[in-house]
Order: sequence, then C-alpha cells, then structure tokens
Amino acid sequence: MTSEPLPQAVPATEHGAPARPDPVEVLLAGRPALVVGGGPAAIGPVGRLLRARARVTVVAPALATSLEDLADRGLLTWTPRDYERRDLDGMLVVAAASGSEGTDAAVLLDAETAGVLAMAGARRGRPRDDDARPALDAETQSFEPPEPARHEDRPASPQTAAGSVVLVGGGPGSPGLITVAGREAVLSADVVVVDRLAPLALLDELGPEVEVVDVSKIPRGRFTPQEEINAVLVDRARAGRRVARLKGGDPFVFGRGMEEQIACAEAGVACEVVPGVTSAVSAPELAGIPVTHRGLVQGFAVISGHAAPDDPRSTVDWDALGRSGVTLVVLMGVETLPRIARALIEAGRPAETPTASVMDAALPTQRVHVSTLAALADGAPPEVTAPAVTVIGEVARFARS
Ligand code: SAH
Repeated sequence: MTSEPLPQAVPATEHGAPARPDPVEVLLAGRPALVVGGGPAAIGPVGRLLRARARVTVVAPALATSLEDLADRGLLTWTPRDYERRDLDGMLVVAAASGSEGTDAAVLLDAETAGVLAMAGARRGRPRDDDARPALDAETQSFEPPEPARHEDRPASPQTAAGSVVLVGGGPGSPGLITVAGREAVLSADVVVVDRLAPLALLDELGPEVEVVDVSKIPRGRFTPQEEINAVLVDRARAGRRVARLKGGDPFVFGRGMEEQIACAEAGVACEVVPGVTSAVSAPELAGIPVTHRGLVQGFAVISGHAAPDDPRSTVDWDALGRSGVTLVVLMGVETLPRIARALIEAGRPAETPTASVMDAALPTQRVHVSTLAALADGAPPEVTAPAVTVIGEVARFARS
C-alpha cells in the first residue's frame, strides 16, 4: 500500500522510569513484601512496592476498591484476615499501613524482632506552603532532598482558602508520566480522591495528614456511583479543603471529568483541570507504536468499546470507522473486541489488518498482544486482559512484544 519501508519494531525503553534507579527499589525486585492494611492508606505503599517489582502480599480483612482491582488482576496476593505475626515469615520488607496506630506500631516492633525491613511510611514534615511544621521535623528535614516549590506556576486563587477542587490527569500509571503541575497539585492537596488506573505509587509521597478516598470503578464490579464521587468532591471543598481528584490518563478522555467540573460549578466550588497523558496515545507509544506515521496513516480515532457495534446503546458509526483509513484506538474494549473486529471487516477493513493490544501500560507488568482483525473476529484471545488499549491499523506492526 506504500513505498515506505515496512514498520520495524524499535528496541524497548523503560516506561516512565527515572533515569537513576533507586537502589532500594532494585533490591526489592522479585522479593516478597508484606503490606499490613487494605484501606486507602495502603494504596501508596502497595503502588510503590509494585513499581519496585516486589511480590506484594496484603493482609487485611477488607480491601479498598483499587487494591481489590490489583488483586483481581493478579498483581498482588490478598490474605483476607487481620494481621498475625507469622505473616512476616519469609518477608524482606513490610509496610505498616493498617490505619490504626496501635496495629502499625505492633507490626513495626514484630518486624524489628524478626529482622524484616520496615518500609518508611509517609514522609512526615514534608514541606507545605501553608503548614507550620512541628519543631522536631526541622532536624530530620535537613536529611531530605530539597523539595520543589509548590504552587508557583499556579495563580493564587482567592477560592483556595474556601476549598477547591483540581481534576488531575495522572497519565497511564507510572508516577513518571504525570505532569509537573499535576504532581504538584496532588502533593499539595488535603484530600486526594483516586481512581484505580491513576499512578497509585504517587500516593506514597503524601503526608500522613492527607485523606485518601478511593472511588474506583471496577468494570462489572464494585464501584462508587458518579453522584457520590461528585458529592465527595463538593463536600470536602465546602469544608475548606483542597481536593485533588486524581484520575488515570486525561480527565476528559472517557474520564467523566466534565461531569465533575459541572457538579463543582453548580455547587459554586472552584474547579480547575490539569490535563494528563492519555492512555489512548501513550499506551501504544510505550509499546513502540506511533498512532500516526508519515506515509502510512494520516490520523487516528479513539473509541470506547464499552458498547459493542451491535449493542443498541452504541452511537458509533462503525461502518464509517471501517472505511476511514485512520488508526483506530479502542479503550474499554477487551470483551467486545471480537464484535468490533467483525464489524470492521464487514465495513471493508482488510481481515489481515494488524492489531496490538497493550495491557498494563506504564506498569512493570506491561504486555503487548499482537494479532489481526481476522484472528480477533474468531474470538477473544485469553491473553488480552483489562486494562488494555487496542490499536487497529498498519502502525500496529511497530509493536514490540
Ligand atoms: N481517562 C483515561 C481513560 C479512562 S477509560 C485516559 O485518558 O487514559 C479506562 C480505559 O483506559 C481502560 O479500559 C483501558 O482501555 C484504558 N487504560 C487506562 N490506563 C491504561 C493502562 N495503563 N494500560 C492499558 N490501558 C489503559
């Protein structure tokens, strides 16, 4: 179809990883780590340990939704009961994040006796522009690397004192792929309202005084209704708190960000948006796939696969997409992939069109499944699991496996 050379896969680079690896994190790779606690306070430590590629076990009677999602995806092991001393057996490191000071203290004492490393919890004394730091922290502070100034690129808003909401696009999941403004908004918030696909490791940098609210929605599973999420944002802001609503990707790409912004506006609550790196572009990119490529394709379309082409709720013209000649990027489409592939072939896309499904993009567990429309039309490949972004078009040949 083109005189350009056929796409060749380009060697992998580490997705969103810092240039200089943290020596402690290198030590944790593949090693067993225990997190005591399954509530919102445990999300940060779990996120950080997973980034370090530790084998994470969470012991807790119940799990916050985003942790349940990680357990469902096989990224952590859940022991569904209260902590017992024997849970430390064989562990290299433990994070005490039970939400109860007494339990956490007991865990740390047990860890010391058992020779298990205790992961430093939230950094007390993290400088905040409006907090008077306790005198004791003035000493420990000098051992910390200098922190960047906060809020400097944001105009001081008169509403801040009255509470506010900032919708933050968190990028595809690595803490390295959130914007500088997004990171600063999260780290200077009083309340962080988080989704399961947000960069959860970032929460490990929050001070212990910051409230974390998990409002994740698991596809066909546990979820917080949108009205309830809106109410959390509005109520906290009205109580005078700075609320950061941390989402995966970009807030306005299938992120219901505008619904939250409207709810804030209707309640008279100041609400700003920090754009994010959407998974629609970055997930393919992290797998080596450009959504456009000169000489190959002159555009791309991002589509929700939530309602399949033959679903009466679908308002997408799949015939037109099939004929469009642009790269198709399907989000939320793991279950509906076979029906989507059939609709596109019927619309005239060649059956041999290459496809690439990028799963867990920007996480250490990132995977790519390369296929064709014809093969997908035959049935959902078991290797493709959510969350995934599927690229349909010639550019999918660039995929690195
Ligand atoms: N606002 C988000 C999209 C939310 S819809 C954004 O801009 O990226 C949720 C869908 O996004 C998932 O079903 C999946 O298709 C995709 N997604 C988000 N993060 C992902 C990731 N890290 N890896 C693969 N797919 C991801």
